[in-house]
Amino acid sequence: MAATIIDGKALAAKVKDGVRQEAAQLPRKPGLAVVLVGDDPASRVYVNGKKRDCQECGFYSEEYALPAQTTQRQLLELVAELNGRQDIDGILVQLPLPRGLDEREVLLAIHPDKDVDCFHPFNVGRLTIGDPVFQPCTPGGVMEMLKEYHIDPAGKRCVVLGRSNIVGKPMALLLLHAHGTVTVCHSKTPDMAALASSADILVSAVGKTGLVTANMVKEGAVVIDVAMNRNEAGKLCGDVCYAEAAEKASYITPVPGGVGPMTRAMLMKNTLTAAKLHQGMD
Ligand code: NAP
Repeated sequence: MAATIIDGKALAAKVKDGVRQEAAQLPRKPGLAVVLVGDDPASRVYVNGKKRDCQECGFYSEEYALPAQTTQRQLLELVAELNGRQDIDGILVQLPLPRGLDEREVLLAIHPDKDVDCFHPFNVGRLTIGDPVFQPCTPGGVMEMLKEYHIDPAGKRCVVLGRSNIVGKPMALLLLHAHGTVTVCHSKTPDMAALASSADILVSAVGKTGLVTANMVKEGAVVIDVAMNRNEAGKLCGDVCYAEAAEKASYITPVPGGVGPMTRAMLMKNTLTAAKLHQGMD
């Protein structure tokens, strides 16, 4: 039986619509500052998308496009200034930063109340103990998708491919908090195919085109493809061999139109949360 396609684009529009309605009730518009250092074309595309999302949600947004030669000190000064601004609820520093800049120090400098990407160790700690203020955007978006399609991870065998701080680890934590039994695979995992093929819910966040073949998908599994790769023809694709996996899966996310739009929608949701916090509405 063919898999049901999980429509991330439609769900993201629904989430953003809810955010827009809630934001309209606040005394002050939520404000997001987006900081882009250098001229990485992919980062520019992401930043433009985030600005569009802010407009759609009725947010105030500011963009800081800084030259690649920006020093660590200048960047930290900007973050400190934004931390002190009353009209800015969320600060997003677009990653990766150009060589020579210390990403870790910059992310640590963002006030945890304005850390709408949920990268600050304070927020990661709260997430770990199951009491998060913000949802990590990409894994949080995946959880929203599961909820929308009435897929409950409780008691399910969940396998996450990838263990990055941005995707794999927080994804595993969210599935664990939702009572899944979670296995995390990475580049040193032997026989990953056998583990993957035991999964009721398989999440791939590696960044390798063609990694997940049909033999790694259990009959009836839910397959979530987080990756955003370019194939040889320059076309956007995920880790999963979509056509063959869709023949075995019960649900599957496409690339594009799956997890990507949900990540952006969750950023808007987190900015709304921050704005409510700053306006004493939570
Ligand atoms: P990352 O930091 O490069 O992490 C990749 C992970 O995959 C690492 O944990 C690595 O293991 C593991 N890995 C590498 N080769 C492997 C293999 N052959 N078998 C098993 N595991 C392997 O990447 P990321 O930031 O997590 O992103 C992963 C993918 O998701 C990328 O395609 C990225 O573009 C995409 N992404 C999408 C969104 C979205 O909104 N849809 C958001 C963020 C990222 P080690 O730890 O052992 O090195």
